Amino acid sequence: MDAMKKLTGIPASPGIVIEKAFLYLEDDFPEIPRYSIRKNQVESEWKRFLTANHEAAEEVKALHERALREVSTEQAAIFQSHLMMLEDTDFQEQIKDHLKDSLQNIEWVFWDISRELSQRLMAAPDSQFRERAADISDVSRRVMHQLLSVKKFSLADLNADVILVSHDLLPSDVLAMNKKRVKAIVMDAGGRTSHTAILARAFDIPAVLGLSSITKEIDEGDTLVVNGTSGEVIINPDTPVLRQYQKAIDQYRKRFDAFLELRELPAETKDGHRVCLKANIEIPEEADQVSRYGAEGIGLYRSEFLFLTPKQATAEEEQYRAYSHVLKAMEGRPVTIRTLDNGGDKLLPNFQATDEKNPLLGWRAIRFSLSRPELFKTQLRALLRSSINGNLKIMFPMISGIEELEQALSIFEEAKAECRRKNQAYSDDMEVGIMIEVPAAAMTADILAERSDFFSIGTNDLIQYSLAVDRGNERVNYLAQPSHPAVLRYLKKIIRHAHEKGITVAMCGELAGDPSATALLLGLGLDEFSMTAQSIPQVKRIIRGVTLESCQILAEKVLQCTSYHHVTLLVEAWMAEYFPSTDEIRS
Ligand code: PEP
Ligand code: MG
Repeated sequence: MDAMKKLTGIPASPGIVIEKAFLYLEDDFPEIPRYSIRKNQVESEWKRFLTANHEAAEEVKALHERALREVSTEQAAIFQSHLMMLEDTDFQEQIKDHLKDSLQNIEWVFWDISRELSQRLMAAPDSQFRERAADISDVSRRVMHQLLSVKKFSLADLNADVILVSHDLLPSDVLAMNKKRVKAIVMDAGGRTSHTAILARAFDIPAVLGLSSITKEIDEGDTLVVNGTSGEVIINPDTPVLRQYQKAIDQYRKRFDAFLELRELPAETKDGHRVCLKANIEIPEEADQVSRYGAEGIGLYRSEFLFLTPKQATAEEEQYRAYSHVLKAMEGRPVTIRTLDNGGDKLLPNFQATDEKNPLLGWRAIRFSLSRPELFKTQLRALLRSSINGNLKIMFPMISGIEELEQALSIFEEAKAECRRKNQAYSDDMEVGIMIEVPAAAMTADILAERSDFFSIGTNDLIQYSLAVDRGNERVNYLAQPSHPAVLRYLKKIIRHAHEKGITVAMCGELAGDPSATALLLGLGLDEFSMTAQSIPQVKRIIRGVTLESCQILAEKVLQCTSYHHVTLLVEAWMAEYFPSTDEIRS
């Protein structure tokens, strides 16, 4: 067995797991045979192709139905498009012509054409075409497996507990896999907002992604430790490290069981100050499980996932169904749905300028929506119509000034008028709020509060923009310090102005789910915390273990600090005093 090795990737779905590695590599593909055929064999080769194509289509149909049942209409649409490729008669004609002209066996002909097509699309400057290349490759592999009669190993057939190691998983892989047996996922590719990350979180499977070349480091059967919370992966841990992690898992479980007992208890400080803890979700189906962790509502539903394929985004019905699903799942508890927040780090191939030098400062989020009023109104109408299915709040992302907010509100009024014209019911007292994530919005919080029903602070972006640090850039992201005095001053200012105008302030950036920041945020006056559902119990435990008064004193002291280093030390010391067992502040 090789020596122990430690790698760090992107923590994409939380939890710690120790298990054996199972390598699932797309490149395990048999060599494609190539031989000449006679003219009178063309028909029989063609029939072989039609049979293989038919079988592949049956597989895709089954996956489509399963996606509709288990995941979402958006996922199902991917398979619908695969089916359309398999049924594309032009493509089939092309294969038949090549078969007749080249007089080579059908495997070779088919592979040659599909590979050439996908390479051509890969090289296209338009990301929409490049995305299609991945689909063509997925579909042609499926047909090829049928032609060669090699049954591709299906992750549905896994019959032992494993950690799935892959270069990049296709949505069909994630859907098909036996979710009881896959204990964790590690991948070379992927990021926090990739398909796999989103599905892993939805299915509660720990995942570390973006490890570049981990598939080359791991051999089948190696023992792995995967920490989806910190992003660490340890290959073949030595005995002391293994023991350390086994202990961590035991403690995590025990702590978690204890945390779950808190589920029914309010998020209330010892001196009776109550706040609200909500969950962030990215796909509608996640709403079905957030109550398990005691979420009092959804504080941020990132609607971007619905926009992965252009068809759905323009289909009001698809959106209506997705929003209604979330609202019904939450049974009357509040649900805040954010309108499209594309651009920057959220790559939606079809809703993006591809030629921007500075996409983080570019045509994104509300700026994009305001420049595409029809698309924006489609989303707003879907939201309005779904509002009768629960307690909906709408939120606009990346607002940078009052003009943008007023423009968005006026388009919202137009959407309402359209619903009325069509006799479509909607809830009249819906709250409409904004995200505060641009420094300009923080500085003008008093002005924006006049026209908003609530604020939700997006610390991920607020930190990025106020400290001028691209949060995805590994070279500089050490500077993205939530405890930077500039960030803390912004937080204080936003909360103060909101409270002066009588509106509530939520936070839905990562900081809201960091238990080591909870006391400080309470002290600064935050009303609502929205986070990955799994973090709710830890944060609740902190809230129930402190008094508001002590947190306010902490906040006052922290605001006097001159550096983030100083803030961190002060908060750590305070936490150590109140929570001597560090268990509470670790996940
Ligand atoms: C944020 O910026 O903090 C936020 C919650 O939005 P997102 O991470 O989706 O940009
Ligand atoms: Mg943001």
